[in-house]
Amino acid sequence: MSRKLMIAGNWKLHLTVEEAVALANAIASGLSRDDLDVLLIPGFLALEPVALSLSTSPVLVGGQNLFWEDQGAYTGEVSGPQLKAAGARYVLVGHSERRQYFGESERTCCLRLNAALKAGLRPILCVGETQAEREAGRTEGVLESQLAGGLAGLEAAQMASVTVAYEPVWAIGTGLTATEEQAAEAHAHIRAWIGSRFDKGVANSTRILYGGSVNPANAAGLLNQPEVDGALVGGASLKAESFLGIIQAA
Ligand code: PEP
Repeated sequence: MSRKLMIAGNWKLHLTVEEAVALANAIASGLSRDDLDVLLIPGFLALEPVALSLSTSPVLVGGQNLFWEDQGAYTGEVSGPQLKAAGARYVLVGHSERRQYFGESERTCCLRLNAALKAGLRPILCVGETQAEREAGRTEGVLESQLAGGLAGLEAAQMASVTVAYEPVWAIGTGLTATEEQAAEAHAHIRAWIGSRFDKGVANSTRILYGGSVNPANAAGLLNQPEVDGALVGGASLKAESFLGIIQAA
């Protein structure tokens, strides 16, 4: 089954609203392909202005995180319905920076993922091992427990709205990239796990992105791996030229 490639740019805690809109416009106007999905993930403040400025473009917008309640006395949180109303179509869940600095657990990832689905957003569940876990031979076990936790209770039909991102923690923002073989192996393991948890059809149709220091020079090799269905890009998504270079390489 063919899966549409996605190139997503996670802007993390970067860019003012004005800078984010300018970058989004530069990316949209430089885009010369319509055979893949391009997703921009700005900070919350810039999300609606970016979505409005892209309203006539195929470029999609997503959120970096969401809370699991729709509304209430939860100071500082952002909900799925708020993101949806602001123009988001996708939302990251369980990015390693959320797990590392903000105490995300498998349980809270699962709550967030379900809240995204309930709001009509497409969650991108991020999973990946640390350097120490890889060196200890625990990569596959870590991926399995993050997948099992984040997708707990999900039904096969709901997986049509879920994307998985394999992001080895040691490769995020470090300039270290997984080799093509390491990425292919981890993606194949994730797909096999999805096949046994749901079924083969679900596994074959689930999009699995790779993230971790992707740049225009290494993108083609990684994206050529049959199990790699796109890229989640951090640093290199902050310049139109490098992000468009990755899109061209895909
Ligand atoms: C990310 O933030 O998901 C990421 C992969 O960052 P970078 O490309 O900078 O490693």
